[in-house]
Amino acid sequence: MTTQTPGSVSTFRRLMSYAKPYRSGFIMAILGMIGYALIDVYFINEFETFIDRGITQKDQQYFFWAPIVVVLLFAIRGVFNFISSYSLSWAGTHIVKDLRQQLFRHMMRLPVSYHDQHSTGELISKITYDAEQIKQASSKALVVLIHEGAFVLGLLVVMFSKSWQLSAIFLLIAPIIALIVSVVSKRFRHISNRMQGTMGNVTSNAEQMLIGHKVILSFGGQAIEDKRFGEINNRNRHLDVKLESTKAISVSLIQTIASGSLAFVIYLASFPEMLETLTPGKFTTILTSMLLLLKPLKQLTTVNSDFQKGMAAAAAVFTVLDEKPEQDTGTLELNDVRGDIEVKGLTFQYPGHDKLVLKNVNFTVKAGQTIALVGKSGSGKTTISSLLPRFYEIEQGQILLDGHDTKDCTLASLRQQIAVVSQHVVLFNDTIANNISYGFTGELTRERLIDVAEKAHVMEFAASMEQGLDTEIGENGVTLSGGQRQRIAIARALLRQSPVLILDEATSALDTESERKIQGAFDELLKNRTNIVIAHRLSTIEKADVILVMAEGQIVERGSHQELLAQNGVYANLYKLQFGEGA
Ligand code: ADP
Ligand code: MG
Repeated sequence: MTTQTPGSVSTFRRLMSYAKPYRSGFIMAILGMIGYALIDVYFINEFETFIDRGITQKDQQYFFWAPIVVVLLFAIRGVFNFISSYSLSWAGTHIVKDLRQQLFRHMMRLPVSYHDQHSTGELISKITYDAEQIKQASSKALVVLIHEGAFVLGLLVVMFSKSWQLSAIFLLIAPIIALIVSVVSKRFRHISNRMQGTMGNVTSNAEQMLIGHKVILSFGGQAIEDKRFGEINNRNRHLDVKLESTKAISVSLIQTIASGSLAFVIYLASFPEMLETLTPGKFTTILTSMLLLLKPLKQLTTVNSDFQKGMAAAAAVFTVLDEKPEQDTGTLELNDVRGDIEVKGLTFQYPGHDKLVLKNVNFTVKAGQTIALVGKSGSGKTTISSLLPRFYEIEQGQILLDGHDTKDCTLASLRQQIAVVSQHVVLFNDTIANNISYGFTGELTRERLIDVAEKAHVMEFAASMEQGLDTEIGENGVTLSGGQRQRIAIARALLRQSPVLILDEATSALDTESERKIQGAFDELLKNRTNIVIAHRLSTIEKADVILVMAEGQIVERGSHQELLAQNGVYANLYKLQFGEGA
């Protein structure tokens, strides 16, 4: 059992730091397991007396006490068993709970760029599968190590006390077993490391299917998805079988070797000198001990694979925990800003990508103004809107809010100033009211809530619902239409009263009809704020103070609607195109 790399040693140390607060549980568990094992050893040891004194010498007094002792000892054994199981599960579940909580918290604090690069399924499986795996594998390793270890040691002591010669033979095979173990467990480590990954694949693939269910149906992608999942599913199964068969081979090998020594013991016992020193009770006890040693020895040889499995899972969890959270080094607490925005020399590429998505972008928005960003998709509009609340770190250039570099501000206070309403409305599985007030920290009266709901035209549909604003809307608001969801998002932004508002294609998921219906809600939202409106339909931005036209990460035209039309450039072309379309 010596295949631990320095990596798994340090992982183990780190895991131990999680175990520390629950030390008492582990100590109780270990004591319980040792007690349990020792009672078993005591029973084996008693075989000799039972046979030699009880049966051979027909000792009546022995037969009187034996049944009473048996029942008593089994009762105590049961208590030990309960103590060890309970304490171990108490400590183990506490560790899993702590790790899960920490993972959950940490994942929330990781930058958007991290989440861009890691699938939801992969991360969920870290919280669910890997965390549980640490407990299962490590508890199993601990149980085998302590319980079976104590049992083996006890049996060895019993055997040696009866006949050291016979017992010594048995020990000769120990180095051979150890050799096989080290070879086999190396392979285990490799396979179990790969097992971790494929389980994540199974989850993320299933998740992708569930999320994209409608798309798959409408594009008839069932066969492709089925095949893709089938391959991953089968690879997972394949590795599982490999793991099990390696285990089975190692177990069979070890048992065969052990049986050879058992045969040798029987042969040696037939020598006259030996037969003289052995009573029937002694011989039975030694032989029984040897047979009973096989199972725990087998388990002890696989303890490393369990341990490694736990360490692999722990390492996977620690990798996430070691990811750097969002940089929040700014110290300036923004409070009630006016809303002057200045973007200076902003050049940006997404972390891990070479392509420059923004190239030297400059513009200013005065407090209370509305500017519009237009341009083909992929021109960098959303990127600008993600950089304002600093979802990504700005490397080149600056964004100033009321003259303060956003880098110097605390993330929480910066984001408090900015409300983003985008095409993808995220709603929580809760009531309409709670969705509107999500994240709102100020004092909230029912009147205020209703006022906001009315302004955002949420009341229009909520009023006809049985429970009004307290209606549950299902996971991500599945029970609502696109326009209704969008209106809840608007109400949420209205309530927040952030000085800066970003509308990123907020209406592009809606048809013209519903868009017209909620236009009033938008007009309400735009009042008294600095607004950055990114819109697909040019009709919604004609009223903007300044329109910025973007192409391939650069601002190629700027001016009012009339000015840009007069320029007869990119904007004018876009406008004609849409106007033609509409007609
Ligand atoms: P727009 O909103 O104008 O359609 P985006 O700002 O979303 O454009 O995208 C600009 C460019 O950045 C595109 O080429 C897109 O492929 C790339 N991009 C967008 N988001 C990411 C991301 N999370 N990681 C890497 N590249 C991205
Ligand atoms: Mg976009």
